[in-house]
Amino acid sequence: MTARTNQRIDGVRLWDTLMAIAEIGGTPKGGVKRITLTDEDRRGRDQFRAWCEQIGLTVRLDSMGNMFARREGRDPTRAPVLFGSHLDSQPTGGKFDGALGVIAGLEVMRTLNDLGIVTEAPLELVNWTDEEGTRFGRAMMGSGVWAGLFEEAAVKALKDETGVTVGEALAEIGYVGAIPAAPFPADALFELHIEQGPILEAEALKIGIVTGAQAQIWYEATVTGQDSHAGTTPPVARKDALLTAARIVELVDATMRADGAGGIADTGRGTVGRMYVLPNSPNVIPGEVRFTVDFRNPDDAWIARIAEEFPRQAEAIAAANGCRLTLKPVFRVPAQPFDPACVALVEQAAAKLGYAARKMVSGAGHDAVHTARIIPTAMIFTPCKDGLSHNEEESIQPEEAEAGTQVLFEAVLARANRPL
Ligand SMILES: [Zn+2]
Repeated sequence: MTARTNQRIDGVRLWDTLMAIAEIGGTPKGGVKRITLTDEDRRGRDQFRAWCEQIGLTVRLDSMGNMFARREGRDPTRAPVLFGSHLDSQPTGGKFDGALGVIAGLEVMRTLNDLGIVTEAPLELVNWTDEEGTRFGRAMMGSGVWAGLFEEAAVKALKDETGVTVGEALAEIGYVGAIPAAPFPADALFELHIEQGPILEAEALKIGIVTGAQAQIWYEATVTGQDSHAGTTPPVARKDALLTAARIVELVDATMRADGAGGIADTGRGTVGRMYVLPNSPNVIPGEVRFTVDFRNPDDAWIARIAEEFPRQAEAIAAANGCRLTLKPVFRVPAQPFDPACVALVEQAAAKLGYAARKMVSGAGHDAVHTARIIPTAMIFTPCKDGLSHNEEESIQPEEAEAGTQVLFEAVLARANRPL
């Protein structure tokens, strides 16, 4: 046995720590409610900071409340290797979305201490502020400001539904840091996360080697018809905005399904997740319907085709139903590939450890997608039961958490010790 294979993280300590953080904001159904910048979030952060300081890490805070726990390397001139995720959750979230990546990072630091390893580059474990976007409507907020994609003042002015701003909430929990939320020189970032999809489980794989995140285009749609009496308006005279919207929803679904063979490997996504019906009265034909459309695909060309064809097809449906359609593109991001060298380190780690793995594209947004815009970045996925997340029943096995953390350990160590 080589020395390298003895460098094992402690799977029991990892699991115990995951269960301990899950008690903060733990729900009766076994999930977690640790919404960003609430008292539960503060308690989670306080606990995380205490664990970091107990093992000698120096914790810094930036002005967005992003937390960086630093372990010095041998060469103080080298930029740090970052790794981490987020401790905030959805209102009915699970124990592992986000927390796994942070607690796994803590386990990497603890293991390095146990083994007496000093890396060449410094290491920094990150807890990003407000990944979920559930309270202020802006997902991946802290990493977005850090990476320069969101303007800090504008983000700090965002309000929750009670009128509290991000800036006020940060101050309230005592997590406004002294250093600016702006990129500092960093060598790379690795994020371990549960897959939040069904592929790894279905294929009995331990590790997803994430090669990037998919392209997205979102629309806000308004169908305008005419309000009229449900009892007296004959079919030929109707301008039913809801019926028209429903037919456009069918188009969104058909567009998604046309991309692939009908299996779990299909890559197209098309979703209408929100709809408002006006006047929303049981005996009035709806005169106006507003809804959202969200298309995603790893292939930029697919999104480009959607951008060209979908508005035309949807407008044709509206016209055929006597209605007008206004379609406003509100969000479009290209596919974000991860750094090939960092992805290769994840792949090599999985191979060396003998874990069955595959390359895959992330279906969800992650903080790492933001950091990938400015520093070399890669992600590691681990399976989750039934692909379920954003749900209190979100579940993973201890050995899955351990495997993902072991891969994170190897990838971080290799990057931090790479010859320059
Ligand atoms: Zn997450």
